[in-house]
Amino acid sequence: MRYTYFIATLALVGASPSHLDAQGPTGRAPDTSSTLITPARVFDGMEMHEGWSVLVRGDRIAAAGPSNTIAAPANATRVGLPGATLMPGMIEMHSHLLLHPYNETTWDDQVLREPLALRVARATNHARETLRAGFTTVRDLGTEGAGYSDVGLKRAIAQGIIPGPRMIVVTRAIVATGSYGPRGFTPEMDVPQGAEEADASSLARVVRDQIGRGADWIKVYADYRWGPNGETRPTFTLGELEQIVEIARTSGRPVVAHSSTPEGMRRATLAGVETIEHGDAGTPEVFRLMKEHNVALCPTIAAGDAILRYRGWKHGDPEPARIAEKRASVRAAIDAGVTMCSGSDVGVFTHGENGRELELMVDYGLAPLLTLRAATSTNARLLHMEEQIGAIKPGLLADLVAVRGDPVRDIHAVRDISFVMKGGTVVRAAP
Ligand SMILES: [Zn+2]
Repeated sequence: MRYTYFIATLALVGASPSHLDAQGPTGRAPDTSSTLITPARVFDGMEMHEGWSVLVRGDRIAAAGPSNTIAAPANATRVGLPGATLMPGMIEMHSHLLLHPYNETTWDDQVLREPLALRVARATNHARETLRAGFTTVRDLGTEGAGYSDVGLKRAIAQGIIPGPRMIVVTRAIVATGSYGPRGFTPEMDVPQGAEEADASSLARVVRDQIGRGADWIKVYADYRWGPNGETRPTFTLGELEQIVEIARTSGRPVVAHSSTPEGMRRATLAGVETIEHGDAGTPEVFRLMKEHNVALCPTIAAGDAILRYRGWKHGDPEPARIAEKRASVRAAIDAGVTMCSGSDVGVFTHGENGRELELMVDYGLAPLLTLRAATSTNARLLHMEEQIGAIKPGLLADLVAVRGDPVRDIHAVRDISFVMKGGTVVRAAP
């Protein structure tokens, strides 16, 4: 099947908030060219609609509805996508563009042995593959030793220097002194860490410093593997977490917490973080608390799944205990009514395979329609960007993805991408 499409100018035009496109308008005349996209069906971020079309003008969605109701200008470019489902560009809520899979290079070696330029060069490939996989926005949750490279990558993408998703960044992330890694060296040696250390006496300065260097969110590790026997224990006190949230919130920035223990999750929730990442050992009680405080869970199922595969677990083998426990905790979160965010921790596994998280969310018990909402409209709302992205409705940015088939009937369709448009520009089209 052939159809034509136009490659719009790389310049992003129109009035976008500064956190989306740091460089803003380029002074060129606004792009008012139109594209009419006619797939078999449209998932608008909430519901599936058979027989809809979508009209794009410039970088925005101009109209969406039953095909016979959409009036396209005579000179509009027409894109037919028979059999395909058009959806909002997917949103990855937990990426690490500066990491690559641990079965290629261990995390310690990436942090300690890979030059910054090498890591950034690799990250440009990761950004391109992420976009081609239909993820038009990522919240990148920490450079893991690569400094403030996420701030530069974000600007390079916003300026059209390299292809990639819109980025929401946290820079280095914050860990309690002595709790993180790499570790296991002679104590006389100061080993560079994968995140920025801080404590009650320095937290205020570190939060403000990361904001000053470009953080859109503040990420904190509420627990980590620093118990007497290497077990996971809470790191920051409730008071320290509250201090982080108060300063971030003063600046208008939300806080995200890495946490997998019930106590870490409890403290993060009470302190006022907006999303909790992982939550592996979450209990019905702590999920009820999260629900009560309107804190979302990003279960990052795909990362745990990948790590067990790296340790030798193969398709057809009995499920390891950790998988059974993860299934139970995800189930408990769903049953408690916790808002499910979709974020995979990609970087632990291959960039561009982000759709694995959606497949696994369905495998772990979330309905396909709810999983699609999580990766689009819910994630957009959690990012406070629902007026920009995450839905197909007039006025929003034209971030659009087509998948072959119907992902509500078969979620694996989200990994069979035939078309990607970001901000009105076609970045991938079927041959
Ligand atoms: Zn992560």
